Amino acid sequence: MKPRLLFATSNQGKLRELRGLVGDAVEVVSLSDLPPVPEPVEDGPTFEAIVEKKAREYAEATGLPTLSDDSGLCVDALGGRPGIHSARYAEGSDQARYQKLLGELSGVPDDKRTAAFVCALCLAMPGGGRAVIEVGRCEGRIGHEPRGSHGFGYDPIFVLPQGKTMAELTAEEKAGISHRGVAFRKMKPHLLALVGGPAVGG
Ligand code: IMP
Repeated sequence: MKPRLLFATSNQGKLRELRGLVGDAVEVVSLSDLPPVPEPVEDGPTFEAIVEKKAREYAEATGLPTLSDDSGLCVDALGGRPGIHSARYAEGSDQARYQKLLGELSGVPDDKRTAAFVCALCLAMPGGGRAVIEVGRCEGRIGHEPRGSHGFGYDPIFVLPQGKTMAELTAEEKAGISHRGVAFRKMKPHLLALVGGPAVGG
């Protein structure tokens, strides 16, 4: 029987991306495939602390090896903000959030507008087992106005070193370079070790 892995997300796009990565070897289920379990409070000072708490609590609640994720945009000129608060940085839409950020950076010159998208993943084994964390980063800078219509969140204002914004890339191009793509690929060997049974649980 294939090992089952819970990906603690209800985001169908992320689920598809993970299933593509692990192929047929592992059966990836999401929270919507399981009976309801209490939702952990998402708190912690860092991306790493947040994902570890989330993965461990879901692994205990479900008895399944669990992968959790968290991500955000860290802007150097703002001391790393919005960071872990990216999703709630401003009330309303993605547009409201990136416009707030552009406002905060008004007058900041190009060489001081450096930023990174960060994604942390944690794979936790049930029964108080091992937890492994991988982090992916994608470096760029914050532009002066939004460009592009793909993606979501802060993509239209995140300018890559090659000059396009993240929102001007196709989904495939973005997966190749994004913080999430990098973190998923770093996590892949740990996920495939599930097939070998206790290798990851150790
Ligand atoms: P979550 O990890 O899916 O909860 O994402 C947290 C927040 O970070 C999102 O609501 C976005 O505001 C931002 N974010 C994370 N990844 C991306 C991305 O790939 N593009 C744009 N914004 C992102």
